[in-house]
Amino acid sequence: MPITATTAAGNMDLTRIAARLEQASAPEIVEWAIETFGRRISLTASMADTILIDIATKIDPDIEVVFLDTGFHFAETLQTLRRAQARYGLNVRVERPKPHANDLYAVGTDSCCAVRKVALLDRALADKAAWLTGLRRAESPSRANTPIVGLDSRGLVKVCPLATWSDEDADRYIVEHDIIVNPLQYEGYPSIGCWPCTDRVVDGADPRSGRWAGSGKTECGLHL
Ligand code: SF4
Repeated sequence: MPITATTAAGNMDLTRIAARLEQASAPEIVEWAIETFGRRISLTASMADTILIDIATKIDPDIEVVFLDTGFHFAETLQTLRRAQARYGLNVRVERPKPHANDLYAVGTDSCCAVRKVALLDRALADKAAWLTGLRRAESPSRANTPIVGLDSRGLVKVCPLATWSDEDADRYIVEHDIIVNPLQYEGYPSIGCWPCTDRVVDGADPRSGRWAGSGKTECGLHL
């Protein structure tokens, strides 16, 4: 069934747009998104690397970049954020949980992700029509069907310009554009979340298998 959405840009046939953008390059997809949504789009960044930031800021240097500071990030992730700010002069919006918000030790991982990740993204996107995210289909079997453009659970348009990129595409862009990479990526952490919930991954395993390892949980709720 076609997915349509009423957005700041009017009534959109997202299925048709996603099919058309399937063959487009990542910069073309970002350009479409920024032209369509203007200031009503944000880019969310996990600080695993700055590929999407590099692409998007070349098109709109002032695009809002959202970082969700859960209070449990690795020092390397916060250091990557600082390097990105220094290099790109980011218009960054850091969202933090309320003081003394419950954490995973008090309430478990689902409730912790709800107050330290999902609620922060809800707040950051409250006045937006769309968001950009760096999800790639090749990251994990659970992300294999990621559309270029879709509708999220809030009714916002979610745009994934890197969805079709292989690991090799990402590696090539990193080298060719001297992209900032979270050093943990080179230490066995291909997917980086909060330190209490992220383990090292052995070569050949699902790159996201180090997240909430052994619990059956695979996503924090940001991408459901
Ligand atoms: Fe809390 Fe872990 Fe979720 Fe981070 S990943 S918000 S520490 S449960």
